[in-house]
Amino acid sequence: MKADEVIRKVYEAGVVGAGGAGFPTHVKLQARKIDTYLINGAECEPLLAGDQHLMREKAAFLQNAAETVRGALGAERALFVIKKKHVAERQALEAAGAAVAVMGDYYPAGDEVILIEEVTGRIVPEGGLPLAVGVVVNNVETLYNIGRALEGIPVTRSWVTVSGAVREPGLWLVPLGTPASKLLELAGGPTEDDPWYVDGGPMTGPYHREPDFLVTKTSNALLVLPGRSALVRYETMDLERMIRQARFACIQCNQCTVACSRNLAGYNLEPHRIMRAMAYPEQRTEAVLRQAFLCSDCNLCSGLHACPMQLSPRRVNQELKKALRSQGVTPDFPAREIRPHPMRPYRLASTNRLLFRLGLAGYDGHPPFRGEVAVDEVFLPLRQHLGAPCLPLVAVGDVVDEGQVVGEPPEGALGAPLHASLAGRVEEVSERGLKIRSIRTEG
Ligand code: SF4
Ligand code: SF4
Repeated sequence: MKADEVIRKVYEAGVVGAGGAGFPTHVKLQARKIDTYLINGAECEPLLAGDQHLMREKAAFLQNAAETVRGALGAERALFVIKKKHVAERQALEAAGAAVAVMGDYYPAGDEVILIEEVTGRIVPEGGLPLAVGVVVNNVETLYNIGRALEGIPVTRSWVTVSGAVREPGLWLVPLGTPASKLLELAGGPTEDDPWYVDGGPMTGPYHREPDFLVTKTSNALLVLPGRSALVRYETMDLERMIRQARFACIQCNQCTVACSRNLAGYNLEPHRIMRAMAYPEQRTEAVLRQAFLCSDCNLCSGLHACPMQLSPRRVNQELKKALRSQGVTPDFPAREIRPHPMRPYRLASTNRLLFRLGLAGYDGHPPFRGEVAVDEVFLPLRQHLGAPCLPLVAVGDVVDEGQVVGEPPEGALGAPLHASLAGRVEEVSERGLKIRSIRTEG
């Protein structure tokens, strides 16, 4: 299939990166001078199971899609990158004729900067993109959605792992716009008196007091964690308090920098210096604060793994990034030769050890695939990707088919179209999104 046709089909199906911030995939596929196409199957965050399921059960489909994308990019090779422990996934992919590269079982193996360095030996420039080193990366679910797009099927479902403190953990295929509360109900409800709900993986997903968020194109997990866990304490700590602590409790021991995954990859990111800059305004140069742009949010620097004073440089970095962007500061860094830290192989954070430290070891395992979720109502947010939110193409009272285009990005803006995940009548159109109710349930 010609590159233009692949890109058109991927755009029309509304494919965006399923594992991260939702970068529109058709834009990535426009890259040229690419020699390597990597499919990220590292399933980086603990407890997630969707990509592993797809690699085991849809290996041939994924391999076909990967070959088409490789051809469209003009790349010499397409490689699935998975963890060594995922033996069944490797066997399924290799049986389908796929080339597989294997990584150790550490966190955050799925960070694109780290994945690319491990597989190709190339280091993405600070503040740069993988295409600067001739590489395009998609994660496994994104590739699955690309494969469906090539058959003319739009993105209307996400694969969502429900795990943690629930009675019946599992993996479900879920219509976009389904509330997390529905998934919780399917998983038998929480087993804890004081549950918190994570929209994603335990290290990076936002934490919620109520299961009132929605499944979107970038959803991959609903985790239920006890309110007493250290994870919940960190992720829900009042930000003012966190910044105050950064000022008064940081002993400049440097452990956050020793453990920092991006520092180990060779980036000029030293979270202890950022923390010092927060404590002492005279040390607060733009050069130090801008280091926050190099942070991947992996969370290894916090007291969950590194900091003996129970601080979270990661949360400080998150705030700094927002503040710098609002002042118009851009994440540009001068070109320089980057080499991984010589101690990197000895400082990798084992996923198993991390699971024990986080108190999540009891939840690990392979939750079974429990099927496709049926719903009578969905609420589709108009923003499900990076760039501009979609503009609605329907009005209240319209009847839509499943898969019909119901939203499109503004002309010329970065984005991807949105499709109805349920056949029914449009009941609400607002800035937030579209409510669609199945006609079956109309009284
Ligand atoms: S590990 Fe904690 S106490 Fe040590 S320098 Fe980093 S933030 Fe400060
Ligand atoms: S979250 Fe912390 S450890 Fe991870 S990249 Fe950012 S500063 Fe480094």
